[in-house]
Amino acid sequence: MSTVISNGTAENAEQRARLTVDLRSDTVTKPTPEMRRAMAEAEVGDDVYGEDPTINRLERRAAEIFGREAAIFVPSGTMGNQVAIKIHTRPGQEIICEERCHVFNYEMAMMAHFSGCLARPIHGDDGILRWAQIERKITPKTYYYAQTGLVSLENTHNMAGGTVYPPPIADEICDAAHAAGLPVHLDGARVFNAALALGKPVAELTRKFDSVMFCLSKGLGAPVGSLLVGSRQFVTQARIYRKSLGGGMRQAGVLAAAGLIALEQMPQRLHVDHENAKFLAQGLARVPGIKLDPAKVLTNIVICDISGAGMVSADFSRRLAEKNVLCGAVNSELVRFVTHLDVDRAGCERALEAVQQVVGSR
Ligand SMILES: *Cc1c(COP(=O)(O)O)cnc(C)c1O
Repeated sequence: MSTVISNGTAENAEQRARLTVDLRSDTVTKPTPEMRRAMAEAEVGDDVYGEDPTINRLERRAAEIFGREAAIFVPSGTMGNQVAIKIHTRPGQEIICEERCHVFNYEMAMMAHFSGCLARPIHGDDGILRWAQIERKITPKTYYYAQTGLVSLENTHNMAGGTVYPPPIADEICDAAHAAGLPVHLDGARVFNAALALGKPVAELTRKFDSVMFCLSKGLGAPVGSLLVGSRQFVTQARIYRKSLGGGMRQAGVLAAAGLIALEQMPQRLHVDHENAKFLAQGLARVPGIKLDPAKVLTNIVICDISGAGMVSADFSRRLAEKNVLCGAVNSELVRFVTHLDVDRAGCERALEAVQQVVGSR
C-alpha cells in the first residue's frame, strides 16, 4: 500500500498497511496459517507427468464435489475459462455472453486471440440473461453468418454486483441451448457464493452446464489457482490446451495443499462475507449522494453509484485510500467493494466512516 502512505518510517508504513481495509477484491486474501502449514508439508511430484499426489487429490475432490467425472487444476480462472472456450468452439464462431462478463471484458480478448471467436454480448438486468434473449441472438444456420458456438454464463455475476442466477433460469438456458446443439460454459469464479445465497450445493446449481470453472483464490482464500470441471474427455482435452498456454506446472502440490483447505473448509465461512457486504450496503445506502439497492446485495460484492456525491470514482477511491480504505472504480460513476476473509465487521465500520467523511467533506 505504499501509494497511500506519505513519508513515515518503515515501521509506521507496516502499521498503516495492517490498518488498511482492502475492499478492492476478494483476490487480496492472504493464505491462512493452516494453509501455510499444509503448503510447507505438502507431498509433491511432477504434475506434468501426473505424479503430484496433492494435485491429484485436489482434482479428485473437486470432481466429487461438483458431481463430475474429472477436474483439472489451472493457475488462474482466466486460463480455466479460456481453455473451456477453446474446447467448446471452432475458429470463426460467436460466443453469446452477458455484456459485463469476465470472459469478454477482463481476459485480454483471448476468445479472439486463442479461440478465434467473437463475443455476441447481450445486456441482462442484474447480469442475468434469459433464454428468450439468447435465442434471439443465435445466428441462423446459413453459410454467410458466423455460427453461434457457445453460451457462457457467469454466476455470481461479478460486475453486476455479485448477483445470482435463479436455478430455474440457468437450467432453462442449459436445456434449451443443448436442444439447439449449443454447449454452455459456466464462469463460476464465485459459484460457492452463489450456492450459499441459494442454499443449494454447487453440484445441483451447475449440473446442466457442460463445463464449470471456479476459483480457489477468491473468497475461498487460497493463494493461487482455479479448477475446471467436466467430463473425462473434456478434461483430457483441457490438459492439452493448459500445456499449450504454458500452464503445465511441476511440483504444484504446494499450491494444491492450500487449495484443498480452501475447497473443504472455506465455503462454510462465506456467510460472514455476505453478512458484512449486506452491512456495508445498508450503510452506504444511507450516505447522501450514494445510490444502491441493498436488497440486491446477496453475496460479497457491493457496487454503488457515487455520481450524486459530486465526484468521479477515481477521485472517490483516491480520497478513500488516503483514509486507508481501498475500493475499486468500475467506471467513472460506479465503485465496487468486495468483502472477504481478511476484512471483519470493524473494518466495514471503518470503511463506512471513511466514506461518510469523503462524501461529507467535498
Ligand atoms: C476473478 C474472476 C475470474 C478469473 O480471474 P483470474 O484472476 O484469472 O483468476 C473469472 N471470472 C470472474 C467472474 C472473476 O471474478
